[in-house]
Amino acid sequence: MRTIRNFVGGKFVELDHGRRFDNVDPATGVTFAEVEEADEATVDQAVTAAWEAAGPWARTPVRERAELLRRVADRIEARFEEFVAAEVADTGKPVALARELDVSRAVANVRAFADVGSTAGQESFLTELPGGRRALNYAVRKPLGVVAVIVPWNLPLLLLTWKVAAALVCGNAVVVKPSELTPSTAALFAEALAEAGLPAGVCNVVHGGGVTGELLTGHPGIDGVTFTGSTATGARVMRAVAPRVRPVSFELGGKNAAIVFDDVDLDEAVTGLSRAVFTNTGQVCLCTERVYVHRRIFDDVAAGLADRARELRLGDPSDEATTTGPLISQLHRQKVLGYFALAEHEGAKVITGGGVPDMGSDLEDGSWIEPTLWTGLTNEDRVVREEVFGPVAALIPFDDENEAIALANDTDYGLAASVWTNDLRRGHRVAQAMNVGMSWVNTWFLRDLRSPFGGMGLSGIGREGGASSLHFYTEPTNVCVQL
Ligand code: NAD
Repeated sequence: MRTIRNFVGGKFVELDHGRRFDNVDPATGVTFAEVEEADEATVDQAVTAAWEAAGPWARTPVRERAELLRRVADRIEARFEEFVAAEVADTGKPVALARELDVSRAVANVRAFADVGSTAGQESFLTELPGGRRALNYAVRKPLGVVAVIVPWNLPLLLLTWKVAAALVCGNAVVVKPSELTPSTAALFAEALAEAGLPAGVCNVVHGGGVTGELLTGHPGIDGVTFTGSTATGARVMRAVAPRVRPVSFELGGKNAAIVFDDVDLDEAVTGLSRAVFTNTGQVCLCTERVYVHRRIFDDVAAGLADRARELRLGDPSDEATTTGPLISQLHRQKVLGYFALAEHEGAKVITGGGVPDMGSDLEDGSWIEPTLWTGLTNEDRVVREEVFGPVAALIPFDDENEAIALANDTDYGLAASVWTNDLRRGHRVAQAMNVGMSWVNTWFLRDLRSPFGGMGLSGIGREGGASSLHFYTEPTNVCVQL
């Protein structure tokens, strides 16, 4: 069986402590690789390698750093189908989705940050003083140093490149820890870095779960942490870095709302909502789990969305026609099924799904779940307040705009929202009224990588994307010159 190793100081290292964990295909339940777990010594070596590489890398002109990143993007593109296959094996997501979303966005991420980083300007202010004199203020931006990058399993390569490319173009060295459930594309990414000629130690990859994550965030050599994952883990990471007061960027969970007004083109809205609820089996932090629908069209939207759910093709992820894969693991399926039971207990009417599909003998040990829709719930119910992270949404009626805004904002999370309407003014007005980091009108998960991404409330701290990433991955030193 293939062994996935840690990438430290520009090399894949072989560990002799014997601690390995399985890499399981969630579609079949079959273990297809073993992963060497990074222990304390390995994490320390990775941070030390990063620390040694950070100085020379920070002094490398930004144009050269950007050029190297473009070569990394070219290497991913050259091995595109290998990355797709690795992502499919790790996550069970459909091959078409991995191609269209994960690997394409990874290439785009790396190129985008090469561009953003190498063309960024500097802030400066001309300050007028009493008596006609002036002063010039300008800020020079310096990399943080060594950044810990911790990412989850749902969009493993997309989220890894989103953070690593931005950190590197700013002149940081990084230690990346992918999720223990999805190590394969991170290992291939390390190969792509080496092929592109990235200096040894500038990017290191350590494998493991929460224990390895804690070794990394608690390491005194870490100068900042960028983390994407659950809110509960985010809180633990915050406690780990608190004694040394390091900057954190947190992209956490959500309980995202969609608001559907009664002037929509029904078919277009239902198509968009179906994407928002079911993409990647509902395992995108931006996925919609609460759909507020104007009462006049409630039954039509519910029926239309249920039809779309039944049309989804669950099946072999390597089949080009498959639209929907399994959940990431048996453990996660238990959690989602727990919410299915809770919803019924809370009085939900299951209008489609609600259980485990019969997938036939080859896939019967996979973590399959039925796309599911509920009506009959309110904002008081736990399943409408807590993140499920599965292919599921509660549909709730409303009567007017203010009520819809209040219902959508009635949450401790604040990641994303979508508003569906043909009234231009209302679209802007309601989108702006959402207490979230990203608000879409008549679309969902449409991204311009220069725009800010992140959440408020329990959904995170800070923003990344475009200039926001450059701000997080650097520290400004303001210079004031009396003229
Ligand atoms: P998770 O919090 O369980 O794990 C995320 C990462 O943190 C993994 O690499 C894990 O090994 C590591 N980790 C676990 N315990 C740790 C600790 N104590 N210290 C340091 N690292 C630790 O999350 P998950 O289940 O992998 O991912 C799903 C969650 O991620 C969902 O809540 C989802 O909403 C969220 N998410 C958010 C965004 C966003 O951009 N806001 C994007 C994707 C996913």
